[in-house]
Amino acid sequence: MGNMNFIQKSNLFSFTATRCLRNEYYHNDCRICIELCPKGAFHIVRNKLTLFENECVGCAGCIGSCPTEALEIESFDPNGYAASFMHQKDSTLSCKVSTPCLGVFDVEHYAVMALRGERSVTCDLSHCESCVLNENGNLKSLICSKIDTTNSFLETLEVAYRIERIDAKEEQTERRALFRKGFEKVKETLVNESVAHISMTAAHHKLPDQKMPLKRVLLKNSLKEIVGNVQTTSFEEKSPLFFNKQIDFQACTNCGDCTQFCPTDALFPTSDKQGIYFSQSKCIGCGICEVICKPKAISAKEGFDLISVAFERAEELVHYEMVTCHECRCPFPYKGGEPICDRCESYTKEFSNMFTMAKDL
Ligand code: SF4
Ligand code: SF4
Ligand code: SF4
Repeated sequence: MGNMNFIQKSNLFSFTATRCLRNEYYHNDCRICIELCPKGAFHIVRNKLTLFENECVGCAGCIGSCPTEALEIESFDPNGYAASFMHQKDSTLSCKVSTPCLGVFDVEHYAVMALRGERSVTCDLSHCESCVLNENGNLKSLICSKIDTTNSFLETLEVAYRIERIDAKEEQTERRALFRKGFEKVKETLVNESVAHISMTAAHHKLPDQKMPLKRVLLKNSLKEIVGNVQTTSFEEKSPLFFNKQIDFQACTNCGDCTQFCPTDALFPTSDKQGIYFSQSKCIGCGICEVICKPKAISAKEGFDLISVAFERAEELVHYEMVTCHECRCPFPYKGGEPICDRCESYTKEFSNMFTMAKDL
């Protein structure tokens, strides 16, 4: 992602196409926002994700789910809101009072609000069932799954705070039919209402080259403050929030594709370019590295380390000694045995008949 950001805007909403995984990486087929948008405002045009500005209602439902923060609304900053949440008296998040649709938040935001505020946070989801933005049920189920993920993470940290839910009351299921009837009218009212209630937080402006999503920077900094009090910091099990990688030394050709294409720089070369570092705090689990690696040398690994995440500690996954190939004289990553590079070795194998014939001449 370079300095030129291609931004599409509706009145309230902006989509930075150059931060979109799907648009920037041929092998990535992220569809999170397409599936979430209640108005179907995202379309694939010439294989690129494109926002149809006139269809976007700026509801913010998709925003928290974009792994790279390519989606934003102008009037509400979920990172700023989560960072300053501890100063708020009321610990309830409600689209009717202080926030847009709770889809604006991600797991990182919920965790930051609970950890920094040192208190439980309540999400008022009592309007979801009747909300026109939740017509297909996708938005509410995603919000609930983020809350569940946050709670299991908070449990892992052994802190007492949780993200609580206030769910719909029974009679609201009936009201859903009424809402459906006047869809367009109600939609207009709801959107206006949510916009009117959006609290203005400090406007955030990402640097175009900020590769690590700000929500992860926030979480990392919040963990830094509490990690000293956590009993266990190293975990064996898989986490939906933090990802881990391993590289098979024998299979890796040190081609550098994974470090070049990792969208957040979670994988990066060592200063001598003969090894690869991996940072758990930066990895968003997009899977691009695994898809792009031709010899399939890089793979997911279970477990995560809180200290590594909190202090952005990187681990060296692989390191090579570079030696000169005895055939072509080019440097190559040496893995033992004959000092002959892969290219020369496969050339000798593929054309073995020719060499045998040449010997007989
Ligand atoms: S959620 Fe984000 S990365 Fe995924 S397709 Fe939408 S804009 Fe792109
Ligand atoms: S892990 Fe794969 S993509 Fe990365 S340097 Fe090694 S071979 Fe290349
Ligand atoms: S390390 Fe792999 S999975 Fe993680 S952000 Fe980079 S490319 Fe995506």
